[in-house]
Amino acid sequence: MLNKEIIAGLKNHRTPFYYYDMDLLRRILDIVRTESKERNYKVHYAVKANFNPVIMKTISGYGFGADCVSGNEVAHSAENGFAPDDIVFAGVGKSDEEIELALNTGISCFNCESVPELLVINDIAGRTGRKAPVALRINPNVEAHTLKHITTGTEENKFGIRLNELGEIAELIPTLKNISFKGLHFHIGSQITETGPYRNLCTRVNEVWEWFSERGYENLNVNVGGGLGINYEEPDTMPPFREYFEIFASHLDSRIRGEISFELGRSLTAMCGTLISRVLYIKEGVSEKFVILDAGFTDLLRPALYQAYHKIENLTSEGERGKYTVAGPICESTDTFGRFVDLPLTQRGDLIGIRSAGAYGESMASRYNLRNLPGAVFSDSL
Ligand SMILES: *Cc1c(COP(=O)(O)O)cnc(C)c1O
Repeated sequence: MLNKEIIAGLKNHRTPFYYYDMDLLRRILDIVRTESKERNYKVHYAVKANFNPVIMKTISGYGFGADCVSGNEVAHSAENGFAPDDIVFAGVGKSDEEIELALNTGISCFNCESVPELLVINDIAGRTGRKAPVALRINPNVEAHTLKHITTGTEENKFGIRLNELGEIAELIPTLKNISFKGLHFHIGSQITETGPYRNLCTRVNEVWEWFSERGYENLNVNVGGGLGINYEEPDTMPPFREYFEIFASHLDSRIRGEISFELGRSLTAMCGTLISRVLYIKEGVSEKFVILDAGFTDLLRPALYQAYHKIENLTSEGERGKYTVAGPICESTDTFGRFVDLPLTQRGDLIGIRSAGAYGESMASRYNLRNLPGAVFSDSL
């Protein structure tokens, strides 16, 4: 993937920057389009994973929809090739302004997370003379077996409507004149690499769908969310897309007639991105040898935020291997990408690649310490 020719082409760019392998992105999008179409499934791209316009336009070009979690993401998606009626809008804290913007954009669905939100959307829709398409985000109370900080589908959690609220909601909905009840939405978490949680999700989806079906809502759409994980240890291993869709094909109730949709973020964009950084200094510690990079957690937050693992490679050395602790320049001790990382002899000026960084990398960058935002370089324009 990062062969000698590419590395030579990257050497003169100002570091740190994200390098995006666009051929790989297109290969992944091809697979996902084929596998989802085969089963008549719709895929929305979770924009928060990476909102770089070049990435967004590539994804919208494949005919995927957009899953947004802010008004700005809704507007940005519409500006980067996503048809308004392919845009859905989730989030526990939609502001009045964001709701109005989404209504004006003409999005296909609000994934609504609480009764108070339902009332506010109904209100604003009435005021602006529109009918708001709404799906209920149900908290499925399914454990995702992933990092504690990124599970979203258990009951002790701010996300979604609890199962014991459904009775109240079912009575409320017919009274909300400016709301059109379209479907059910679920999302159990992120970086899920086991099949068990998805099978449990299917069981819960079937129960909730049946409950609504018995009350006269047989044609509801079902959105099962995202969360398909990638292999951070082996950055060149494809996610098991076929097996993933197959779980739903074989476990969802075959009587569901509405559209079945997915919201994939990480699994679409993570693999194609590598954070490229230059070694500033080698620092001898007491028991560790530190590699100080010109990239820090302002460029890639995941390791500092949830001790996430990213494979680290020295792209320009073939020297004798040793153990190094790879850290950034920011004045916080959490600004470390990996401890005792096995690398070839590493020296000032070497290029370091931090792999699997195409999702929740550039999109989480900040300007803390008044640092520059990382750049972006695309394989198509090397
Ligand atoms: C973040 C998010 C996703 C995407 O999650 P991935 O793990 O990146 O696939 C999908 N749906 C909702 C509601 C989200 O918040």
